[in-house]
Amino acid sequence: MSNWEVVIGLEIHAQLATKSKIFSGSPTAYGAPPNTQADLVDLGFPGVLPVLNQRAVQMAVKFGLAIDASVAPRSVFARKNYFYPDLPKGYQISQYELPIVARGSLKVMLDDGTVKTIGITRAHLEEDAGKSLHEGLANATGIDLNRAGTPLLEIVSEPDMRSAKEAVAYMKKIHTLVRYLEICDGNMQEGSFRCDANVSVRPKGQEKFGTRAEIKNLNSFRFVEKAIQYEVARQVELIEGGGTVVQETRLYDSDKDETRSMRSKEEANDYRYFPDPDLLPVEIDAAFIASVRASLPELPDQKAARFAKDFALSAYDAGVLSASRELGAYFEAVIAGVGAGHAKLAANWVMGELSSALNRDNIDIENAKVDPKQLTGLLLRIVDATISGKIAKEVFEAMWSEGKPADAIIEAKGLRQITDAGAIEGVIDAVMAANPAQLADYRSGKDKLFGFFVGQVMKATGGKANPAQLNELLKSKLGGGNA
Ligand code: ADP
Ligand code: MG
Repeated sequence: MSNWEVVIGLEIHAQLATKSKIFSGSPTAYGAPPNTQADLVDLGFPGVLPVLNQRAVQMAVKFGLAIDASVAPRSVFARKNYFYPDLPKGYQISQYELPIVARGSLKVMLDDGTVKTIGITRAHLEEDAGKSLHEGLANATGIDLNRAGTPLLEIVSEPDMRSAKEAVAYMKKIHTLVRYLEICDGNMQEGSFRCDANVSVRPKGQEKFGTRAEIKNLNSFRFVEKAIQYEVARQVELIEGGGTVVQETRLYDSDKDETRSMRSKEEANDYRYFPDPDLLPVEIDAAFIASVRASLPELPDQKAARFAKDFALSAYDAGVLSASRELGAYFEAVIAGVGAGHAKLAANWVMGELSSALNRDNIDIENAKVDPKQLTGLLLRIVDATISGKIAKEVFEAMWSEGKPADAIIEAKGLRQITDAGAIEGVIDAVMAANPAQLADYRSGKDKLFGFFVGQVMKATGGKANPAQLNELLKSKLGGGNA
């Protein structure tokens, strides 16, 4: 394995969040009964003409500006010809030689914290095809053309990624970006965000790329990672066994965790691309670009940089907290309540307890059962030493399941921290009296037993002794002094 270098390029399809289709007025909403959202244009009737949806163009330009790409002053729609039952026209309208967006790049943070820049060759507008239905149909295939004509932005990367993990990191970053820009809802179950992964291997040190296989239609980050890992192992084994990789399209079967050959790779000339005579070239002027630029939100990298600077967070924390607009907004709302001086505490809680509860219950942050105000209420009780961080986790769980504010739970459960020195000393005395052997060992130099005494006192107080006070009092008492 270690003699091989992996090379990956992704083609990501992001469904643009327009209300109507790219060339017709039919709605794009998901989940309607088959063929109720396809008009004559989507059905490919002769004699009807496509009309370009301006919102789709705006969204593509927005993406282009966000990745520092060049936006073509003139781009052209082309027909990509092929036969398939879910494509009634016999061609897909796409862009070929002159895409609307070209030569951009995106910064991706890898697991070890390093930042890598991935080149983006192009992003072009195209229409989606329909869907073949097999389930519940004996000896027949149904065709649903609701999806036909749905606007897509196909984002093609340079072959810049060198591992499955890098590919996933890049795909996640694009996912973050299109959702920030509000040009795609990012829903992967519904197919609004999916990718084709091009994978090849080459001997380390060799400049020339190996032959690639293209794995089609991956619709989860986990599948992207697993499919690439499988494919890399397959190619290496094949080559080391004396075989050669053929250029082909493959499908990933997630049940079996393997990729299978679907068809040999078609070349561009198989598609007989030519400019679509039904559509004018798209001409974009400086005023249009300026208006789209003015609509750009704070971008993920900008937000991360601001978090790192204003709240003194590590690049890693700032990156996690800016991974979605919603998460960033939640975090900032907590900061507004606890103060920027406690940003690290807020960051730990949002990335820790809150995120794991959301993951565990599989809910979005907008529906979190503890909202920013309630979390603020909890963190303020840590800050003013009413409860310890450890007890706070217990309170958080209760808040999550009971929907009550922190103070109510702390009172009801009697979780208030013991900060009365006299009370803590009393417990220490009792613990010392009950453990004379350990006390003697400690005093004769077994320092490690300090932890034992902390544990005993915490046990006796139900974890409620103020940890800092306990430490100090215990040190003095065990040492034979008076606190
Ligand atoms: P096509 O249009 O036939 O799919 P492209 O040349 O446009 O081919 O490339 C599609 C994707 O494949 C791009 O993301 C590109 O980076 C990637 N790619 C090209 N060559 C290789 C290779 N040898 N190994 C891995 N990925 C590659
Ligand atoms: Mg391709």
